[in-house]
Amino acid sequence: MEKHVLTIFAHPDDAETSAGGTLLTWAAAGARITLCIITDGDKGTADPTDRREQVIARRRQEQERAATRLGAQVLWLGYEDGLLQPTLQLRRDLVRVIRTVRPNLVMTHDPTVWFRHGVYINHPDHRAAGQAVLEAIYPAVKKPLAFPELLEEGLQPHVVEEVWLALTDHPDTFVDITGVLEEKLALIGAHASQFPPEPTRLAFTHFARETGERAGMEAAEGFRVLRQARQTVQAFADRLR
Ligand SMILES: [Zn+2]
Repeated sequence: MEKHVLTIFAHPDDAETSAGGTLLTWAAAGARITLCIITDGDKGTADPTDRREQVIARRRQEQERAATRLGAQVLWLGYEDGLLQPTLQLRRDLVRVIRTVRPNLVMTHDPTVWFRHGVYINHPDHRAAGQAVLEAIYPAVKKPLAFPELLEEGLQPHVVEEVWLALTDHPDTFVDITGVLEEKLALIGAHASQFPPEPTRLAFTHFARETGERAGMEAAEGFRVLRQARQTVQAFADRLR
């Protein structure tokens, strides 16, 4: 079956930084990839003279450039950067996206992560986005009577078979990105306003090698993977037989 991947992350650059090597590998194997970005990344500047519209335009352009490298389509939800909450409105918007795109795999943030590497407090938008995506996938995406207005829009229920949580503290699945590490660095480089080349190369090479060590690979990305079924109890029972 064709791998049809929908990534749903809070900001432009999240998909590339947390899973760029995996996405490049899947794209090369023929996967269809859609990148849904919840906010415009409109706080992504250190220059107080920048106007919001300028930042949005710059970041959208950078994201489209990265998407081209992946042969991916980009969907923008247009929420404001830095203020994201896992609201019912966001949940409904995400159910709409997932039922429209109908992917067999969704990748998002692990909403349980608060800290990374002893220097990084996880962005609150990442936790909010991860929570909202999981709450959309179960139960609303697969229950026809959840958000009945979506059914009226013609959006039928859907089962997402695999959910991949990126940048997790509890990875159970590793993807070898040794052969695409350089390409991943170039992919991140598409977001030039956010990532100065030298420290980016040093940091992301280190992350990839550190994750690789846990998996017996030279360079890797790690994920926590949840498998979904049309009927959860049936799928669990099948596994026990
Ligand atoms: Zn982010």
